[in-house]
Amino acid sequence: MLPVAGGRRAHPGRRGRCTTLRAPMLLRPAMTATPPHVRQLLADAATRLPGVEGRHEAELLLLQVLERERSWLFAHATDPVEPAQVAAFEALLAKRLAGEPVAYLLGRRGFWTLDLEVSPATLIPRPETELLVELALTRLPEATALRVADLGTGSGAIALALASERPQAQVVATDLSEAALAVAARNAQRHALGNVSFRQGAWYAPLTGERFDLIATNPPYIASDDPHLAQGDLRFEPATALASGLDGLDDIRQIIDGAAAQLLPGGWLLIEHGWDQGEAIRALLRDAGFQSVATEHDLEQRDRVSLGCLPARLSACRP
Ligand code: GLN
Repeated sequence: MLPVAGGRRAHPGRRGRCTTLRAPMLLRPAMTATPPHVRQLLADAATRLPGVEGRHEAELLLLQVLERERSWLFAHATDPVEPAQVAAFEALLAKRLAGEPVAYLLGRRGFWTLDLEVSPATLIPRPETELLVELALTRLPEATALRVADLGTGSGAIALALASERPQAQVVATDLSEAALAVAARNAQRHALGNVSFRQGAWYAPLTGERFDLIATNPPYIASDDPHLAQGDLRFEPATALASGLDGLDDIRQIIDGAAAQLLPGGWLLIEHGWDQGEAIRALLRDAGFQSVATEHDLEQRDRVSLGCLPARLSACRP
């Protein structure tokens, strides 16, 4: 999902208990201050990072530097932190204070059941996109050798979630960006998902002559003059993954126009989009001959995914 349609869901506040900032004590020979300990560093960072997520973000960044899991914190709050690690933590904090998304600083983001590598070449997967995965799965019977395409795969989020849930399916993931595809391919490897292949090119260009049971996509859909593009995480994400013409629908029009040539009879097209685009997209789907056209809502009750199927002649949509 993209923030033009509601932003990331807020997480419950994670402000920790009040911690006491102690002045550094000179336990070592003169001129060498005692290294700050974990709790001190976190308390200090939490006061500097804005928002209710500040404390949680500070933990994530420090754990990244220390190469530890979160559970480690509980028993090690008073462990000293070496100067080189303090410096590395400060460098990450500075980037975060300059607005860089936490997911890029960590180089990863959780999506569905998967821990995914992300980079500035890829969109950061959003929890809202899991609705698209759920809707696709209800249309992909288990243990069936179906063919699925994910257009504009980015980090591979949608393709890899579907491939992991439907090991019998063959999933093809496309992207215009070679750099994004390299990240997606590493994610497939990391999760040992052998039923996904990757192709470089715009929308259907690398799929000429092939047909699929289901096509899923979270394309760029923000209007090119939308002020959200200059705010928050979006400033750091690839512009080509976000914006799509004056009404945000340029890419979606292409995807709908080209779908009939790429879907098997009775196949489904599922498109993620902005909260105010459902009606326009349903009209485009109907004009292109789709049936069972509908828009589904995300957890915030906003339009999020529109879908439809191209029926086989004389028979109904499957399943
Ligand atoms: N499919 C990827 C995701 O949902 C990338 C989408 C995009 O780059 N617009 O995260």
